[in-house]
Amino acid sequence: MADCIFCKIVNGEINASKIYEDDEVIAFNDIRPIAPVHFLIIPKQHVESLAECKPDHEALLGRMLLLAPRLAQEKGLKGFRTMINTGREGGQEVFHLHVHVFGGGDTLPKT
Ligand code: AMP
Ligand code: ZN
Repeated sequence: MADCIFCKIVNGEINASKIYEDDEVIAFNDIRPIAPVHFLIIPKQHVESLAECKPDHEALLGRMLLLAPRLAQEKGLKGFRTMINTGREGGQEVFHLHVHVFGGGDTLPKT
């Protein structure tokens, strides 16, 4: 997707502070962190949101989620929160699927 900022991160047109990469997924630190540790896990292929995922995406979603505890542990987090904003009304601003993972510091607010 030509105008997608996360596709540009995937193909190296825009720099990001990458913390993980494999053939299907990358993870990088959020540019506006809301906690001492805050990173995003995204698929390399452009998928607009969780609402656009099909059964074909099942393995990819599993891979993204299983990466969260692994990378959180590498970052020294004992606990963390995951968040997937979906659609404008769900607070999504970048329309390329991503899982937020954040934590560290004071306890997170109760939701
Ligand atoms: P969302 O509201 O779930 O769509 O969140 C998008 C997230 O992407 C926000 O937390 C932004 O801070 C983050 N973000 C936007 N542009 C970049 C970028 N170039 N590098 C890293 N994070 C970004
Ligand atoms: Zn994209």
